[in-house]
Amino acid sequence: MPATRETILELFERTGGYLRGHFLLSSGLHSPEYLQCAVVLQYPEHAARLGAELAEALMRLGGRRVPVVVSPALGGIVIGHEVARAMGARAIFTERDASGAMALRRGFRIEAGEQAVVVEDVVTTGGSTREVIEVLRAAGAQVVAAGSIIDRSAGRAEVGAPRVALATLDVLTYPPDHCPLCRQGLPLVKPGSRR
Ligand code: ZN
Repeated sequence: MPATRETILELFERTGGYLRGHFLLSSGLHSPEYLQCAVVLQYPEHAARLGAELAEALMRLGGRRVPVVVSPALGGIVIGHEVARAMGARAIFTERDASGAMALRRGFRIEAGEQAVVVEDVVTTGGSTREVIEVLRAAGAQVVAAGSIIDRSAGRAEVGAPRVALATLDVLTYPPDHCPLCRQGLPLVKPGSRR
């Protein structure tokens, strides 16, 4: 049975992955809350459960099992691995090369015509997923669907493939020059580099 949004958020709450404070998002906007997937994914049983649920959602969306799951490093690696386990697929990841471009390294290969899904932990603008999709299409692969544990875009992010998330949030954000938390003098935290 797929988890409801409440159940996913309750899991974040229970494991300490639902952070409150003053956060700098990768979009440059500020926010009073942040879901830190790594905190939840540190527990293999939770990672496995989320991976199984996301695999099911991706197979419903794409209409098939695929032989490979591709994730952007670092945030997508653990959940991509668990989705691949549930699908019986292999799990590979992209990372930045010396020029800063997203690439498959470490001997990872994808065949022309191979079907793939792209998995990451959180979609905010969809930028990382789009970059992975571009790498795969350039290699001749067919991207069937993309998925994430959390969608912070309220469903708005477009990645150029059908997309699904286990929980969709409409996150409260502020532009830096109109941020009440800045005005209160709360220290700004860049999630991922702390905790
Ligand atoms: Zn602020």
